[in-house]
Amino acid sequence: MVKLLISGMVKYKVTEYFKSLSHEGSGLWKQFYPDPRESIFKDYELEDPLSENKYLVSPRLVHRYKDRVLMLVTDQCLMYCRHCFRKDFIDRGINEISDSEIDLACEYIKKHSEVHEVILSGGDPLTISECKLSSVLKKIRQIRPGLIIRIGTRIPVVEPGLITDGLINILKENSPLWFLLQINHPDELTPDSVAALKRLNMAGVGLLNQSVLLKGINDSVDILKRLYQGLLEVMVKPYYIFQGDLARGTSHLRVPISRGLEIINELKGEISGIAMPIYAVDIPGGGGKIHLNRESIINEDDEFYYLQNSDGFVGKYPKE
Ligand code: SF4
Repeated sequence: MVKLLISGMVKYKVTEYFKSLSHEGSGLWKQFYPDPRESIFKDYELEDPLSENKYLVSPRLVHRYKDRVLMLVTDQCLMYCRHCFRKDFIDRGINEISDSEIDLACEYIKKHSEVHEVILSGGDPLTISECKLSSVLKKIRQIRPGLIIRIGTRIPVVEPGLITDGLINILKENSPLWFLLQINHPDELTPDSVAALKRLNMAGVGLLNQSVLLKGINDSVDILKRLYQGLLEVMVKPYYIFQGDLARGTSHLRVPISRGLEIINELKGEISGIAMPIYAVDIPGGGGKIHLNRESIINEDDEFYYLQNSDGFVGKYPKE
């Protein structure tokens, strides 16, 4: 694994596997290789663009939406994605969740019967030890029957060899589970990653994909068409495609919303409904996720679009 600090601020990490799939300037390369433009911080960019800190209810638990909570089980990933909206959280030395932090989180969920889904996130939850993962899943399962567990991960495409027999057994023991994958480019679908996805499928894990619309990486109808048709072929449902969040130093990777809407409209004419993800954005400032279309933009000025959620919260997103 390659891991180094290129400058005081810039974190760089990638697996040898993922690096070997890329060449300089390619769509895969740009996802992990630092760009000098990352030192450009726009006024409206934020350390915590989704304002998750505002919704922390215990040291590792975020309760933003009524029916679901997010458990941050680690700050580690095997690859640092240049566009990551938690880039200021990743690799801060807080490592994997402790037993007492799991207990605190589970106590909270137990007391909040409105919580129906628990999403393991981070960092990448599949970087924690199998023993710790098993313990987290078992403790969540014991809270009450019917809780849905989702795991957000890039491991099947970043290091497919980690989808081991041991992991598959843990997943089977804690079924039903959903994986929220992040696959952004069709070149991430290789014989190795497809084999890993098939193993997960065979184990009964539901597979959903959330990609991020990224300038110079996948902002083309042809690339997205190949990606979504390829995902369907391996039984992964394209779920969301996200407008880039306003993380610091990511402006060069953001596609203007006006262009995003054009791409999505064109894509609808090219692929079936089942292959089509929902275009969505997290409203900056903690407004949560909304579906992005012309109707969700309630106002605009020279610099910003104004977006409103169902609670009436209005946040602004830059036009460029
Ligand atoms: S794997 Fe996810 S959490 Fe980790 S750097 Fe990439 S986007 Fe961020």
